[in-house]
Amino acid sequence: MIQIPRGTQDILPAESYKWQFIEKKLNEIANNYNYKEIRTPIFESTDLFVRGVGGSTDIVNKEMYTFNDKGDRSLTLKPEGTAPVVRSYIENKMQHDVTQPVKVYYLDPMFRYERKQKGRYRQFVQFGIEAIGVEDPLIDVEVISMLMTIYRSFGLENLRLYINSIGDQDSRANYNEALVGHFKPSIHEFCSDCQTRIDTNPMRILDCKKDRDHELIQTAPRMYDYLNDASKQYFEAVKSNLKAIGIEYEVDYNLVRGLDYYTHTAFEVMSDAEGFGAITTLCGGGRYNGLLELLDGPEETGIGFALSIERLLLALEAEGIEIPEPEGIDLYICTLDDKAMEKASHLIHSLRANGISCDIDYKRRKLKAQMKDADRKGAAYTIVLGENELSAGNVELKHMATGDSKTVHLDELVTVLEEER
Ligand code: ATP
Ligand code: MG
Repeated sequence: MIQIPRGTQDILPAESYKWQFIEKKLNEIANNYNYKEIRTPIFESTDLFVRGVGGSTDIVNKEMYTFNDKGDRSLTLKPEGTAPVVRSYIENKMQHDVTQPVKVYYLDPMFRYERKQKGRYRQFVQFGIEAIGVEDPLIDVEVISMLMTIYRSFGLENLRLYINSIGDQDSRANYNEALVGHFKPSIHEFCSDCQTRIDTNPMRILDCKKDRDHELIQTAPRMYDYLNDASKQYFEAVKSNLKAIGIEYEVDYNLVRGLDYYTHTAFEVMSDAEGFGAITTLCGGGRYNGLLELLDGPEETGIGFALSIERLLLALEAEGIEIPEPEGIDLYICTLDDKAMEKASHLIHSLRANGISCDIDYKRRKLKAQMKDADRKGAAYTIVLGENELSAGNVELKHMATGDSKTVHLDELVTVLEEER
C-alpha cells in the first residue's frame, strides 16, 4: 500500500474547516492592516535560496527539496517565503509602484527536509508578511502588532513576545569581532557546527540548540552593548512605540538572526502554554536591510515575519481553544422511492441555484438511515418525498432543532427556506 510521504499530512474533510477558519481570519486581518496577497511559485531557482537564505544556514545545507527538471535546471520547492517575495519585488520593479511601501502577505505551503516531530513537518503552511521600501521603527511596530493581533484574535493568551536589535552593519561587525574573541579560545568545547560558525557566522553560536547551556553562551557579550547610537535610537523607538499601543514584550539579548543582511529589529513569539511540547516557537521575524541588494535589487529595505498554521493549531490545542464548527446544510431531502429520488435530484438543482445548501441520499438507504444522515450533515430542515407528496405537490417541512413542521407547496420551498434562514 502506498503511504503518505513522511512528515506530511492529509487535512481530512472533517478537519479542513479549521484551516478554512484560520485562513479566512488571516486574510481579514491582513486586509485590516492593508497588506495585499502575493502568490509566488511553489518552486524557484535553487540559487535564489542559496543566496537569499544563505549558504551557512540549516535550510540551505540540510533541508531543501532540490531537483533538476527535464531541462536540467536546478529548482527547489520553496522552504521559506521571504526570498521569493523579494525576487518578485525586484523582478517586477515594485520600487516604482505608486503605493509605497509595498506591503504584501502570503499563505503558502513550504517544504523542508526535517526530522519529523510534533510541530515539525516536511510540508507546512506559512502565513507571512513583508513590508518593503521603508526603514522606520514605526513600521516595525506595525508588523509586530499585526502578528500579536493575529494570535490574540484566536483567543491565545499564553504568549511571549521576545525582541532584540542586531543593529546596523557597522554595529554587527564590531559585535562579531567581540564574539570571536569570546568563543575562540574554547571553541573546541562546542559542537562541530559551532566550530564552523566561529569562522563563517559567529552570531549563530548564540542560536545553537546543542550548546545553549554552555556557560560561555550565558556570559557572551551582548549585542546591545555594541549598538552604535543610531541603532540604539532605532531600537528604543521600536520599544517605546510597542509600549504605547499596549504590546508587552521581553528583550532577549541572545535572539539573533545569523545572516549579514539582517539588521535592527528581530523578534520571536513563543507559547508558554502547558502541554505545548518541546517546540514552543510560533513565529519568527525581523528586518532585512541588505537582502534586496544581495539579490541584485535596488537599495530598499524590508521587514517581515512568518508563522506556520500547524504550530498555531498546536497552540490553540494547548490552550483548549476550539475552532467553531461550520453550520450544516439548510435542507436534506429524504426520498421513499426511485421516482421521488429523481424528482429530488432536480429539486436540489434549483434550490442550490437559489443559494440554499442541500443534499440527498445517493446511497438510496432506508428512511431511518436517511434521517440519521440528515442529522450528521447538520441539516436545519428536512422534507420527505414519496408518491403522496409528489401527487399532492405539498411537503412537510420539518425544523430539525424544534421538531416543528409545516406544510409547504413544493413551488414555495425556496421562498419559505429563504425567509426561515
Ligand atoms: P525552528 O527553530 O522551529 O526550526 P525556524 O527558525 O526554522 O524554526 P523560521 O524559518 O523562522 O523557523 O520559520 C518561521 C516559522 O515557521 C516558525 O516559527 C514556525 O512557526 C514555522 N516552522 C518552521 N519550520 C517548520 C516545520 N518544519 N513545520 C511546521 N512549522 C514550521
Ligand atoms: Mg528550522
